[in-house]
Amino acid sequence: MLYNQVQDLKGTIRVYCRVRPFLQGQTNGQSTVDYIGENGNIMIVNPLKQGKDARKVFSFNKVFGQNVSQEQIYIDTQPLIRSVLDGFNVCIFAYGQTGSGKTYTMSGPDMTTEQTWGVNYRALRDLFQISKQRSDFIRYEVGVQMIEIYNEQFTLTTSTLDIRNNSQLNGLNVPDASWVPVSSTQDVLEFMRIGQKNRAVGATALNERSSRSHSVLTIHVYGKELVSGSILKGCLHLVDLAGSERVDKSEAVGERLKEAQHINRSLSALGDVISALAQKSAHIPYRNSKLTQVLQDSLGGQAKTLMFVHISPEVNAIGETISTLKFAERVA
Ligand code: ADP
Ligand code: MG
Repeated sequence: MLYNQVQDLKGTIRVYCRVRPFLQGQTNGQSTVDYIGENGNIMIVNPLKQGKDARKVFSFNKVFGQNVSQEQIYIDTQPLIRSVLDGFNVCIFAYGQTGSGKTYTMSGPDMTTEQTWGVNYRALRDLFQISKQRSDFIRYEVGVQMIEIYNEQFTLTTSTLDIRNNSQLNGLNVPDASWVPVSSTQDVLEFMRIGQKNRAVGATALNERSSRSHSVLTIHVYGKELVSGSILKGCLHLVDLAGSERVDKSEAVGERLKEAQHINRSLSALGDVISALAQKSAHIPYRNSKLTQVLQDSLGGQAKTLMFVHISPEVNAIGETISTLKFAERVA
C-alpha cells in the first residue's frame, strides 16, 4: 500500500473557521476581524481592550473570510464526501453562536437556488454523481435520516426515540425504522421538506427552536462490489449544532435555563471528545451527551471529522467570537 493511502486511512480532525459578512443594513460596521493569513491564522481585535491585550491570533487548518463563496467552501470538503463512498464514516459540524452562519454553511439561504446551496446539498449531489460513475463496479444503496436533539432527547419528526447501543447500522446508534431509501438529490430535498413540515411548528417558532437544538442529517451508504461481492459501508453526518452563546444565568429561568444547560453540556461534551481524539487520549468520553453517543461510531478510529466554526464580525459579538475561537482552538 502506498504511503499516502496509509495516511488516508487514519482518522483526521480538521477545523475551518468562517467569518460571516456584515448583514444588509449593517454596512460600515466596525469588524473585529483584523487580519486573515494564508496559513490558517486569524487576528481578532477587541475594541474594548487597549494595547497588546487588544489583539489575539488563533490558528486553524483554514480560515475563510467574508467573501468566500459557498462553492469555494465546498471545494475543501469534497474529498471527505468521496471517502464516504470508499467506506469511511465522516462527521461535518457547524459550530457558532446563533446568527453566525451555521445554517448558511450547511444548507444555504435557499434550497431552491443551486448556486447558494450549502454543504448538505452539494454533498448529496456528489454522492449520487460518484456512485453513478462507479455503477459498473459497485452497486450503492443510499438512505437518509434526520434527527433533532433537543434537551438531550431525540426527536424524529414526531416520535421521540430512546438510544440503543446495538445498532446494525454502521455509525448511528438509533433504531433503523426511520431510514428512508433515496436515489437522487431530489428525493432527499423532498424528504427534508416533508421533515420540516412534519415538525408542525410555525416558521418563527422553528427558527427559534432550531437555534436551541442540534440537527443531524445522516446519509448512510451501503455498497456491494459486483465482482468480489464484498461490502462497503460508509456514513456521513451533517450536523447543524445548537447556538453556542452563553445564556446569562441571572436572566434565564425555567425552560430557557434548562435548554441552555443542556446545550452547554452537550457542546462541551463534544469539545471534550474531539480534543481527546486529537490528543490521542486513551479514554474518549463519549457517554457524557446524547450527541456524542449518537455519533460515537463516527468519531475517532478511522472516521474523519470536519468542524466549521462560525464567527460574526460585529463588535457586540466580540465576547462570543473569542469564546467560539477558544473552543475551536481546543479541538484543532
Ligand atoms: P445560524 O444558523 O448560525 O443561526 P444563519 O445561517 O441563519 O445563522 O445566518 C444568519 C443570517 O446571516 C442569515 O440571514 C444568513 O442568510 C446570513 N448569512 C450567514 N452567513 C452568510 C454568508 N456567508 N454570506 C451571506 N449571508 C450570510
Ligand atoms: Mg441556524
